[in-house]
Amino acid sequence: MMRVMLFAYPAWHSLSPAMHNAAFASLGLDARYTAREVPPEALPEAVEELRQPDCWGANVTIPHKESIMGLLDALSAEARAVGSVNTIVRRGSELEGHSTDVSGFLKALADLRVDLAGRRVLLLGAGGAGRAVAYALLLSGIGELVLHNRTRERAERLRDDFAGLGEIRVIGDEELCECGPRSQLVINSTSVGMMREGVRTDETPLPAGDLPKEGAVVDLVYRPAETRLLREAKAAGLKTQNGLPMLVYQGAESFSMWTGHTAPVELMRREARRMLAS
Ligand code: NAP
Repeated sequence: MMRVMLFAYPAWHSLSPAMHNAAFASLGLDARYTAREVPPEALPEAVEELRQPDCWGANVTIPHKESIMGLLDALSAEARAVGSVNTIVRRGSELEGHSTDVSGFLKALADLRVDLAGRRVLLLGAGGAGRAVAYALLLSGIGELVLHNRTRERAERLRDDFAGLGEIRVIGDEELCECGPRSQLVINSTSVGMMREGVRTDETPLPAGDLPKEGAVVDLVYRPAETRLLREAKAAGLKTQNGLPMLVYQGAESFSMWTGHTAPVELMRREARRMLAS
């Protein structure tokens, strides 16, 4: 039996085992995906295990997406640009790091059907997910990317790292009320609004009054399925999308990398939804 692992810390909240195991079964693949709780000090040893011939690779999530880069043999251009890895693929005894968050986000955005050509996008958050989203947006022909992060220096670092790809305007709290309403799309890539240890927080990264006048709001958070941000955006008549489509698409691409098969995306989506509802 082939193995795929998820390295996380903590790992309780992951939908990926259900999604991937259902996909393996539907294609008749003799493989198993398991989530492993790996504290930072145990990461090097966990990575070495991936070199075994019965491992296809792994997914990596908080807090390992950046620190794992130095433990791999090769990085894709995207992983290097974004500065994080969410998928590891074993080729022979070599381990390659990839970021399927970039294409996962772009596919999810395409489902939303908003015309962003020449339009302003407000991105909240400059962590690992924020970097993948900023990279994807800069490659997709938007007009202006405005970035807000609680820790301003982190947003400025992202802006400077991506200077060759396009322009990013970093704003402070006081500019949100001006930039939000004039954006065509707002994306929350912060963890604000996310359930903590199963408890809803009902916090929002953007006050309802600062939402766009028209367009869409995407929240990368998928637990809860409807955050306060999305609830308020829906009430304001905006299109909304939670983090589930991105999660499914990034998983589908990882699945194809490990197995060489086209992923059963609709089955993976159904399985992820079922897990969220349970
Ligand atoms: P990360 O690297 O730890 O970054 C966390 C981000 O949230 C930073 O921008 C941080 O700001 C901000 N933040 C945290 N607490 C905050 C608070 N109380 N007030 C304001 N800002 C706060 O994490 P990540 O990997 O980017 O993940 C961020 C979110 O995206 C998580 O909810 C994760 O589940 C979600 N995500 C979803 C997908 C998907 O497929 N749907 C993929 C990746 C991530 P500072 O810089 O100031 O700390």
